[in-house]
Amino acid sequence: MSADLPLSTTGRTTLHRLSERGKTERADLYAVLDAGLICHLGVIVDGYPVVLPTGYGREGDTLYLHGSSGNQAMRAADGHEICVTVTHVDGLVCARSLFNHSINYRSAAIFGTARLISDDARKLAALRVVTEQLVPGQWDYARLPNKKELAATAVLELPLAEASVKVRTGGPHDEPEDYDLDVWAGVVPAQMMFGPAEPDPDLRAGVNLPDHIKAMARHPRGSSALRAVVRFSSWRTGLPLGDE
Ligand SMILES: Cc1cc2nc3c(=O)[nH]c(=O)nc-3n(C[C@H](O)[C@H](O)[C@H](O)COP(=O)(O)OP(=O)(O)OC[C@H]3O[C@@H](n4cnc5c(N)ncnc54)[C@H](O)[C@@H]3O)c2cc1C
Repeated sequence: MSADLPLSTTGRTTLHRLSERGKTERADLYAVLDAGLICHLGVIVDGYPVVLPTGYGREGDTLYLHGSSGNQAMRAADGHEICVTVTHVDGLVCARSLFNHSINYRSAAIFGTARLISDDARKLAALRVVTEQLVPGQWDYARLPNKKELAATAVLELPLAEASVKVRTGGPHDEPEDYDLDVWAGVVPAQMMFGPAEPDPDLRAGVNLPDHIKAMARHPRGSSALRAVVRFSSWRTGLPLGDE
């Protein structure tokens, strides 16, 4: 698939609520996925739904998710339909009314049939993608997985054929009469940022912090020109949202 191809618009990836917040370019999907560290894997296990966070990586139009080979959610996903989401919180929006409070966000939902990778060479290649998503430069730096570690690791692949992206940007949308209230309104930006690396107390003397890890502290993750806000009043008030 090419980055120029638009995202699919199947029944289940068509946004009904606030569809103007949907992004239709494949590049928008890539941007959300590439800025993330973890995804949420939604799968049916023994007849009930389970949603679990896990590390992932993207290469081209394939998403790789990894976990323990004993992970029942990953085993249950093999050969079945799953839904994976990636979410970035870009800020909190404070409105003049509680009802109109929101959260800035970028998010993606991907649907498809997942497959466990059994071939060791392909599994290693996929693990490289997952590792580089989390700590770029680490695959060529740290010891590679041995046979036993590889067997203890499960990797799922999921095609990025059917996906949606939703983004909310901007400030609060208050009721016209509320603009006269003496209440502060605006956006509190949020950003994923790494701090300075902390060495393992058992670190062998003379082992220096590598540049690729040192550099992480200087580069915020998940930052983007795309800013958004999702109302969070619903879970407090139980009121239906008009502006999520
Ligand atoms: C950080 C964050 C916090 C949120 N908080 C709330 C909240 O408190 N209350 C609330 O009602 N909503 C919240 N939302 C929005 C929520 O994700 C849904 O978009 C919204 O609730 C509409 O749901 P729906 O089932 O009516 O969507 P529909 O538009 O009917 O969904 C149809 C399809 O659109 C796509 N879609 C819908 N939402 C998203 C999305 N966010 N990202 C990618 N694809 C999507 C999916 O493919 C879905 O199957 C939040 C979103 C984010 C990212």
